[in-house]
Amino acid sequence: MSESYEEKAARLDAADELAKYREKFALDAGTVYLDGNSLGALPAHVPARMADVITREWGELRIRSWDESGWWTAPERIGDRIAPIVGAAPGQIVVGDSTSVNVFKAVVAAARINGDDRDEILVDATTFPTDGYIAQSAARMTGHEIVACDPADMADAVSDRTALALVNHVDYRTGRLQDLPGLTAALHAAGALAVWDLCHSAGALPVGLDAHGVDLAVGCTYKYLNGGPGSPAYLYVAERHQAAFDSPLPGWNSHADPFAMTPGYEAAAGAVRGRVGTPDILSMLALEAALDVWDGVAIEDIRAKSLALTDFFLECVRAYVPAGRVVSVTPDAHGERGSQAALSCENAPAVMAELIKRGVVGDLRRPDVLRFGFTPLYVGFADAEKAARVLAEVLADLPA
Ligand SMILES: *Cc1c(COP(=O)(O)O)cnc(C)c1O
Repeated sequence: MSESYEEKAARLDAADELAKYREKFALDAGTVYLDGNSLGALPAHVPARMADVITREWGELRIRSWDESGWWTAPERIGDRIAPIVGAAPGQIVVGDSTSVNVFKAVVAAARINGDDRDEILVDATTFPTDGYIAQSAARMTGHEIVACDPADMADAVSDRTALALVNHVDYRTGRLQDLPGLTAALHAAGALAVWDLCHSAGALPVGLDAHGVDLAVGCTYKYLNGGPGSPAYLYVAERHQAAFDSPLPGWNSHADPFAMTPGYEAAAGAVRGRVGTPDILSMLALEAALDVWDGVAIEDIRAKSLALTDFFLECVRAYVPAGRVVSVTPDAHGERGSQAALSCENAPAVMAELIKRGVVGDLRRPDVLRFGFTPLYVGFADAEKAARVLAEVLADLPA
């Protein structure tokens, strides 16, 4: 007798070295949480850490905590915690502000480094909208023209007019993984800078920022890094660009001597010059605590499990869901897949609403995409099987 999908899930879960990490998260047994690519789950130890931050560091130490509790240096300290997850040596990542704000800093800074005799900025035509909106405004300020371009066509579109390209590493809608090493090399060959948005890849797969010579990068921390709602984003400035990094938001936190309070601006050395104003310490320290779950975790193991999970989910969908009811828009090839499965589906809003009612939490990207994000630290194979099974039940109960 051949193995059922439920049996196969149990076998894969039993062999999964990362399965033990699930208990580090606040998750209920009745819910299959497949929306960690939008808001990561809460690491279970974070509330106690935040209680200490609020009652002792803020409540008792008050102003002393900027120094004694390490608040002032949190942006660069936490940047160094994120660095190994995205393949960066220390001293190149600073945490703070939203991804949107960091896109602005990165695009303007890259245009200032490399834009004097280059008048175009290539922007991923499939980008998450905020990157495109911000790049458009940045380009107006620096006197560049935006050229929207599918990442697949970028290597051909780049020219000696291109100052930089801004690309999403993983497409938020389809889950397509772009070729970061190849595209970065193609941009460099034409003298352009590569600015990558890692929102949907950091914490889900190896990025290799240093190894692939990325120039600048941004990303958020509330998706696969589980930093909490609105947790601060980060900015990577490769060491070789730090001296020339000229921030369009040179706030006092990025000053070489902030407490000199001088009228003239002088940028701090290193990635610290990507800071702006006073950091949002509560969110930042929640993120710092959340990153503890990564201790001892190899991103290569995360990637292997992520691919196994999305493979298995898609296999169960093919087995359970009548042909034609859903179409995967996520690439089959491992080299082109992030950590989500996206299914286009008739009546998708009603289908997702019903899935959530039945305890399978994914999300919807209008008009017709059901998104299922797989966070390898806390999602297992039984979750994948159940999600596919409940999807088939929902589709059977709802008219096509
Ligand atoms: C999630 C996401 C953002 C979010 O930006 P915020 O400023 O945090 O709202 C930006 N870009 C991409 C590619 C994303 O996936």
